[in-house]
Amino acid sequence: MNSHLEGKYAVTMDMYPLQSKEFNRIYPFYDNLREGRLTTTRCHQCGKQAFPPRVICPECLSENLEWVNMPAKGKVLVVTEEEVGVPLGFETPLIHALIDLGGQLTLFARVINCTQGELREGEEVKLVVFPVDPLPVEGKKGAIILQERVFFAFEKA
Ligand SMILES: [Zn+2]
Repeated sequence: MNSHLEGKYAVTMDMYPLQSKEFNRIYPFYDNLREGRLTTTRCHQCGKQAFPPRVICPECLSENLEWVNMPAKGKVLVVTEEEVGVPLGFETPLIHALIDLGGQLTLFARVINCTQGELREGEEVKLVVFPVDPLPVEGKKGAIILQERVFFAFEKA
């Protein structure tokens, strides 16, 4: 961490990763998100599709992976709502759901734009991509640059 930034940014509380090529080997995931696409990696060798995306296939250890689109809509299987112990920077209630994306993938993701008790099992949700506070990083010759970031959640379809 650059000393100029010390105390100015609570990096240890930051939930979102750095997303550019220099910092993250799955940066295409974020580039695709910026285009509104939820993607993951599929292995050319054995066909295993993993989420979150990988740089090495968890099944056969091949590095020959391709990026594939995931459905942008899914069905809620289980809902969880937290009112206490919510991480810094998140509003309450913090709603998460186990979501089935067209039978291709089941993932646990945040659901936004809905109130407590509103989201029910069996409901349709759709992908939302939103900007996250940019993170200051050290660029060339010690210059501080703000790195743009995005993340995804779901909302009622
Ligand atoms: Zn494989």
